[in-house]
Order: sequence, then C-alpha cells, then structure tokens
Amino acid sequence: MAIIIDGKKVRDENLAVMKQEVAELNAQGIYPCLCVIIVGSDPASRVYVNNKKKACENIGIISREYAMPEETTTAQLLDLIDTLNADESVSGILCQMPVPKHIDSKAVLERISPAKDVDCFHPFNVGKLVHGENIMRPCTPAGMETLLDYMGVEIEGKTCVIIGRSEIVGKPMSLLMTNRNATVTLCHSKTKNLKEVTSKADILVASVGKPAFVTGDMVKEGAIVLDVGINRDENGKICGDCVFDECAAKASMITPVPGGVGPMTITMLMRNTITAEKARKNIPLNEK
Ligand code: NAP
Repeated sequence: MAIIIDGKKVRDENLAVMKQEVAELNAQGIYPCLCVIIVGSDPASRVYVNNKKKACENIGIISREYAMPEETTTAQLLDLIDTLNADESVSGILCQMPVPKHIDSKAVLERISPAKDVDCFHPFNVGKLVHGENIMRPCTPAGMETLLDYMGVEIEGKTCVIIGRSEIVGKPMSLLMTNRNATVTLCHSKTKNLKEVTSKADILVASVGKPAFVTGDMVKEGAIVLDVGINRDENGKICGDCVFDECAAKASMITPVPGGVGPMTITMLMRNTITAEKARKNIPLNEK
C-alpha cells in the first residue's frame, strides 16, 4: 500500500516558514501585497478568491481584492492592471480565471507586469521557465514539485509521464520536471496506447479532469502518483482523476483528493508573492 502524501501538512509547514519570512520583511519595512481581481459573480471563482485572501491573512501578506461587475470591458480591466503595475506597494497581481466571455483573457494575462505575474502565466515568464531561468514557478506544478522534494523523491533520471497538457498544469509541469532532469512524456487526448505509456512512469501526473480516469492497470508497481484532478463523482463527492484504491495498491506514494495537490496551489501563490516582492527589492532569494 502506498504512502499517502499529506498535502495539508506540507502546506502548513510551508506557510509557517513563509509567515516568519513575512514578519522579517515587515521588520525591514517591506510589506508583500497581493492584488486579486475578480470579474463577475462565478461562485467557484468567489471561493477561490476567498481562499487566496484567507491564505494571505494567515501569513501576513496584505491582500487587496478588486471585484469588478460582469459587464466590465477588456479596456477597463487593462486600465486597472496598468494602475496596479505602476503601484509601488503591489508585489503580485492575478486575475481570477475564467473571466466573462466578452473579455479578452489573453490580453489581460499579457498586460500584467511579468515582475508581478505571480500565476506565471505571462509569456515572458513561460519563456523564462523554458530556459530554466524562472524565479517564480507556476503554482500547481510548483506544488507538485514541492511535494516530491518534501517526500525526498529523487527526480533526476526518473521517467515522468503527465496526462493532460493544459497551460496551467500539464505543460508547465513538463518543463519543471525537464528542468529537474526527469525524462518527460506529455500525454493528451490524441495520445495512442495511453496505458502503455503511463505504465512506464516512475512519476505519474494525472491532470485530465475526469473522475476514475487512471486505473490501477495504468500504474507501474512502485510509481509515485500525483493526482491533480478536482472532480465530482456520481454522488457529488470531490474526487481526483485516479481510482484511488487501485492506484494506491500499485504505487509507492500517492496524493489523495482532497488533501494532496490541491492545498499546495495557493501555498505556491503565497511563495510567488513573497518572491516577487523580494526580487523587486533586490533581496536575495534563498528559496528554490
Ligand atoms: P484541461 O485544461 O481541461 O486539460 C485537460 C487535459 O486532459 C487536456 O490536455 C486534454 O487533452 C487531456 N485529456 C482529456 N481527455 C483525455 C484522454 N482521454 N486521454 C488523455 N488525455 C486527455 O484541464 P486542467 O485545467 O489542466 O485541469 C485538469 C484537472 O485538474 C481538473 O480536474 C482541474 O479541476 C484540476 N486542477 C486542479 C488544480 C489544483 O490546484 N489541484 C489546479 C488546476 C486544475 P487535449 O489537450 O488533447 O484536449
């Protein structure tokens, strides 16, 4: 039976370190500040934004929310971003996605100053990641990398198979793992013989968004399974992409859903906010 990776414990330990770090920065007159923009009234987005605010409050990061009405135009949103980009008291800016359909989300993401782009969605930061020169890491993949490091997993030389190639999870995870010298295969809906590919993985990342997608026969004996999926099963219960019991029976380590990768995403957002502030103030970065 696999070791169950406790994302909540790793989150709490990381946040405790960051709380101390923020207190030390505050003592030097430096106040990390995260601005979160939310457009419209999507209930899921509201929950995410509240959780981000709560995490900030927990560790002493100043959080500012900009709640914009549904009918906000792209131009108005870009104006707000320009103001926040120019605001010296702001360390990080994020716009909660999805935005209403009439808004040009690409233009919005590209308007955020790369130095304040704590989600790491700006093409400049994606490019930095490709070059292995990034100072911030995309939050969900960084959360998984942090979990692997916490568990003492040697990433170098491992075969890492990622199912799902989204811009926020699969693709950046493939870059983080490549930069750590893993041998990476990125799978998607057009991948042939998926089971054959996943069965070779030392590290298997499931980021498909479909419940019960990864079954035990897709997992190599002793593999490490990271389940990113957040889905609802037929009873409305939160579940991941993996059939947990089957995969856990084969794996050496596995993340549960909830309580695995999920808690790490906001944790890494906090890390990026501190990093962005330190980088702006030319304070050495001691973290990864
Ligand atoms: P997404 O944008 O919908 O991407 C899903 C990916 O899965 C796509 O690349 C798609 O391939 C691939 N896929 C779909 N069906 C497939 C199949 N039959 N075989 C192989 N690949 C297949 O999803 P996402 O935004 O990456 O999110 C994935 C899941 O993670 C969701 O459940 C989401 O809620 C969750 N999530 C969790 C966190 C967290 O903090 N834990 C953060 C982000 C997302 P194509 O590219 O070919 O379409």
